[in-house]
Amino acid sequence: MVEIGNVEVRDVFKIERIGAHSHIRGLGLKENLEVIDVADGLVGQHAARRAAGVVVKMIKEGRIAGRAVLIAGPPGSGKTAIAMGISKAIGQDTPFVSITASEVYSVDLAKTEALMQAFRKAIGIRIKEETEVLEGEVVMVEIDRPASGLGPKVGKLTLKTTDMEAIYDLGSKMAENVIKEKVTAGDVIQIDKGSGRINKVGRSIAKTHDYDAMGPQMKFVACPDGEIQKRIENVNTISLHDIDVINSRTHGYLAVFSGDTGEIKGEVREQINKKVLEWREENKAQIVPGVLFIDEAHMLDLECFSFLNRAIEADLSPILILATNKGFVQIRGTTLKSAHGIPFDLLDRALIVRTHPYTENDQREILKIRAMEESVELEDTALEILVKITSTTSLRYGMQLISTADVLRQRRKGEKVSVEDLKKVYKAFYDVKRAQNYLKQHEDLFITDLNQQI
Ligand code: ATP
Repeated sequence: MVEIGNVEVRDVFKIERIGAHSHIRGLGLKENLEVIDVADGLVGQHAARRAAGVVVKMIKEGRIAGRAVLIAGPPGSGKTAIAMGISKAIGQDTPFVSITASEVYSVDLAKTEALMQAFRKAIGIRIKEETEVLEGEVVMVEIDRPASGLGPKVGKLTLKTTDMEAIYDLGSKMAENVIKEKVTAGDVIQIDKGSGRINKVGRSIAKTHDYDAMGPQMKFVACPDGEIQKRIENVNTISLHDIDVINSRTHGYLAVFSGDTGEIKGEVREQINKKVLEWREENKAQIVPGVLFIDEAHMLDLECFSFLNRAIEADLSPILILATNKGFVQIRGTTLKSAHGIPFDLLDRALIVRTHPYTENDQREILKIRAMEESVELEDTALEILVKITSTTSLRYGMQLISTADVLRQRRKGEKVSVEDLKKVYKAFYDVKRAQNYLKQHEDLFITDLNQQI
């Protein structure tokens, strides 16, 4: 804390907000999608994490547009955590938009308009940079390996001066080759391992998948040395929704900042779609379908579901990930019951991923990670008590006790949270089960019926 004149200024940079999922850094998978039990802040839930890894791979390869994924499982079993893991694993350059279904019911916008805006926020338009790569320059290459089942890899390619001979060098030199044409940033270069020849095959990254069937070839996207890092730092990906807003005559570009976009006309969107597709044809832009995550999906009604059914089939569609903890319940606004409160036709189209209740060991690991995230140290016995409490209450309740007990530790100037600290907060704050029991026992003290108030 410093003082300027008579005014105290606190160092706000040290105050970090720790969100419920701030400990999640990825999906904790190896390159071959094998699950590491505790990694990237995630614990257990192997099948769901592996499935999420497959989804990420498909997103990265641009193969999943028009799909829906449903993550279904009991409350607190990590559905949102896994969606967060997906968001981290796809990288910053791919849009990830997260909403809760109830946000769709706003007073300002029609439900389907709110959904449409969320969809278009989840589609990125990456404006391409046109930097020419000179002879003799070392270029970074992103090697796309769809056939091998592995993700892209970054390596270096040296273009020699005289005859544009290139050496493919990824640590070990594999082949010497001749490039016949000039290479520009963003070009896709193909190396035929059989003949050892390098050809420029175009500029569209999406196109590289067409070569899958052709066998042992590798494709490179060339960009000058260091460009890959720069691209990640520079925000040159804009969402389709932002382009809509900027071009919507009624709102103007400032609405991008205020978020007060109102309804956007269908014609505006059609024009933008046309323009963006033209840019793609001319290689000026790349369309990056991202992820739209809708939590509490059972809160959507039939109208929303039929909108989603159509929207995921559109040319420009992100991948839709829904999550719910509901079992066999009514579809909102109808008398029809369906699994997860979602109509059959959408369920049938979705890749369904299940999460399962946690074992005590999983809970212990998650609690340890959370304590670390919140810089709280627990005595060993306190951790064991916390695990016991969590297994009879809920993971969320157990997590709440970490930070509340730490307040007591601070007050008594102790080093680690003790069993005593935990006992006190356990008594002070009720978990759902105890709150319900208390209510049952003292029902007469509460107002349970509105009529009673009159
Ligand atoms: P709900 O159905 O109630 O929305 P959910 O399945 O989405 O629940 P989360 O919100 O993901 O549950 O999990 C509750 C808390 O536990 C969060 O803080 C989450 O980050 C953490 N958590 C859950 N599962 C894991 C896990 N496998 N690894 C690490 N943290 C987890």
